[in-house]
Amino acid sequence: MSAQAVAGARIGDLLRPDLVGRVPYGAPQLDVPVRLNTNESSYAVPTTVVDEIVAAVAEIAPTLNRYPDRDFTALRGGLAAYLSSGSGVEVTPDQVWAGNGSNEVLLHITQAYGGQGRSALGFTPAYSMHPIITRTVGMEWVDGRRGAPGGGAFDLDVDAAVQQLRAARPSVVFLCSPNNPTGTALALDVVEAVYDAAPGAVVVVDEAYAEFARPGTPSALTLLAGRERLAVTRTMSKAFALAGGRLGYLAADPALIDGLRLVRLPYHLATPAQAVALAALRHADALLATVETIKGQRDRIVAELTAMGLRPVPSDANFVLFGALADERATWQALLDRGVLVRDVGISHHLRVTAGTPEETGAFLDALAELLPAHRQGRSR
Ligand code: PMP
Repeated sequence: MSAQAVAGARIGDLLRPDLVGRVPYGAPQLDVPVRLNTNESSYAVPTTVVDEIVAAVAEIAPTLNRYPDRDFTALRGGLAAYLSSGSGVEVTPDQVWAGNGSNEVLLHITQAYGGQGRSALGFTPAYSMHPIITRTVGMEWVDGRRGAPGGGAFDLDVDAAVQQLRAARPSVVFLCSPNNPTGTALALDVVEAVYDAAPGAVVVVDEAYAEFARPGTPSALTLLAGRERLAVTRTMSKAFALAGGRLGYLAADPALIDGLRLVRLPYHLATPAQAVALAALRHADALLATVETIKGQRDRIVAELTAMGLRPVPSDANFVLFGALADERATWQALLDRGVLVRDVGISHHLRVTAGTPEETGAFLDALAELLPAHRQGRSR
């Protein structure tokens, strides 16, 4: 046999045609002193919880010769109890589904309820992975408009939303509350109106940042009863300070979840991931203890940026979108040059910053103050 390889098609020509020219998700992961660009928690996992996590992993380690519990039974119980205690709504384990981050849970929804020949609609600007996930399963993405003419720049106008849904008739609708990157939460009547206007769709309310919402902001969990097509997604990556654990989840009608079982890969949640998440849930109070401090830093950012003459958007999340920059790319780079990494979310004159520790937040505010007024919109540079 000749060792010479037979020349075939070039790999670039083999790519699925609808993926040609697409760019991967790519928030920079840079080693700089102040990292405020991906809305993680800046707080390390507390030592007491670290000890519990280590003990939990040690306990399951001898069983790693076996596949994981495919139905992650104990974890679903823990997640259901957590959701029930936080929302006042009773969520049962059969209403819970989980994946490697809420990104995977969102993928499962598009795989099961979308797929080729169908479309998903979301109102942008919103979480950048919603269109990317949609397209990975060969669905069409419909870029919904948020505003009514003359409305607040990032408000989701109900009438405009209903009109667009009736015209597009998507199979999946993405809502995001509190919304990334704007930070604002949705009123529940908007969710209800969207659900009613899309009778042929699974409606996803992405609540990745729910724990940071201002008091009185209700969760869409309270709408689950009687709405078989509604899914509320959450994550342990933000308030739980467990982004590295990769554990996202959703609550929905058990019938919706039965569909997700058809598309998940067998044993998709590794035994250590299940053990880590369960240990974290047992210590939810310790992990969530920093949420109030983070909310305080978020409000500090809004107040101080307003005082600087910038335009921050009021936020229910652990980050703030702010406008009135002359050239957001120049400001992003100038902040990075001072060791502060924030996010350019592709909205002209705006940047997004995660609320960090008081020290990190201070470093960001000091660096920005130093750059102004040269970087403010409408000022000569
Ligand atoms: N939804 C929103 C709105 C997000 O901002 C993020 C992370 N940035 C996610 C979902 C996904 O997070 P994870 O996969 O870590 O759960």
